Amino acid sequence: MLKGAVLQKVAEKRFQRELGRYSGKQPGPLVVCIGGIHGNEPAGALALEIVLKKLHETNLPFRGELIALAGNVRALNGGVRYLQCDLNRMWLPDRVRQLKSRQADQTTSGEEAEQRELLEIIETALARHNGETVFLDLHTTSSEGSPFAIISDTLPNRRLALELGVPVILGLEENLDGTILNYINELGHAAIGFEAGQHRSPVSLRNHEAAVWLTLAAAGCIKPYYVHELYELQQDLKRSSSGVPQVMELRHRHGIGKTDEFVMRPGFFNFSRVAKDQVLATDRRGNITAPEDSLLFMPLYQKQGDDGFFLVREVNLFWLKVSARLRSWKADKLLRYLPGVHRLPENPDALLINTRIAHWFVVEVCHLLGFRKHSQSQQEDRLIVSRRRQSPED
Ligand SMILES: [Zn+2]
Repeated sequence: MLKGAVLQKVAEKRFQRELGRYSGKQPGPLVVCIGGIHGNEPAGALALEIVLKKLHETNLPFRGELIALAGNVRALNGGVRYLQCDLNRMWLPDRVRQLKSRQADQTTSGEEAEQRELLEIIETALARHNGETVFLDLHTTSSEGSPFAIISDTLPNRRLALELGVPVILGLEENLDGTILNYINELGHAAIGFEAGQHRSPVSLRNHEAAVWLTLAAAGCIKPYYVHELYELQQDLKRSSSGVPQVMELRHRHGIGKTDEFVMRPGFFNFSRVAKDQVLATDRRGNITAPEDSLLFMPLYQKQGDDGFFLVREVNLFWLKVSARLRSWKADKLLRYLPGVHRLPENPDALLINTRIAHWFVVEVCHLLGFRKHSQSQQEDRLIVSRRRQSPED
């Protein structure tokens, strides 16, 4: 009840960039949590405040440091998703480089100012810390549905995301450009996206709190049994995602333009099963149908946003284990001996695949071995894949 009231009162609340910090006497990992990078999703920032309050009140033994940040402060305080542009689509490395090369007074949008402030705090924290770093990015969705984690498929990301005990979705970076998670991943750090449930649901607040505690435990900052309510939070989190496959891969994104007049058909929620050719939405061109049997993911039931919906497909856990084993054996070195696969001399982490020669399964094998399709390189019969950012485990 109390938490429901907290969410209702959020309209009057003023968020600060730094929600708080907590560190212990012992060295350990750096955990950076961001809530509300989308301003209409305040539950993550509120949950971070709750966790920080409990940490300070109980003086909980802690290894390393937690930094909790509000994402899009101006949008959060205005109760909108963003002011001029989506802050979670602005993190392509080139764009970040350009932003850094310009003076602060040359920022062109509220979101650029937000990005600049976030970058400064994150880069300062990373420069001070040498050791494991984990990012957790907290979101909510416009539709009802099960909570889930979304990651780029590296072994450290998998390990952390599976600790949350919610469905895990792989392949974020192949379908969404410019997310803060991809940016952090490319710097070589683990980065997990967590979607807690519907924007205004009190359940989302509890799910976010559980995800923060579980991430702190998985990173090794806290002992989970020191947190009294964690068991109950964890059980609730598990219950709210029961019946959904444990691991799925992102297969399709339906992006929308400003003049599309996109309208999602009513009644869908996260992980609704859909059949090939089923009508999912309409726009000014007509019906939009599912290209394959799959599960619908993040249907858009709000005005702002560039993603109409996504489609995901279940990944067999057997193949997940096989791929972890292959990656630890460095089997990717054998890939270039497959027919139609060549190394790119200018980039040792990339392979050029001639899709007329290589069999269809080559892309699947590349996925297993930790490579990803390049978003802009799929032209005719040439496909470039590159290794996901390596870490000691991967
Ligand atoms: Zn979001």
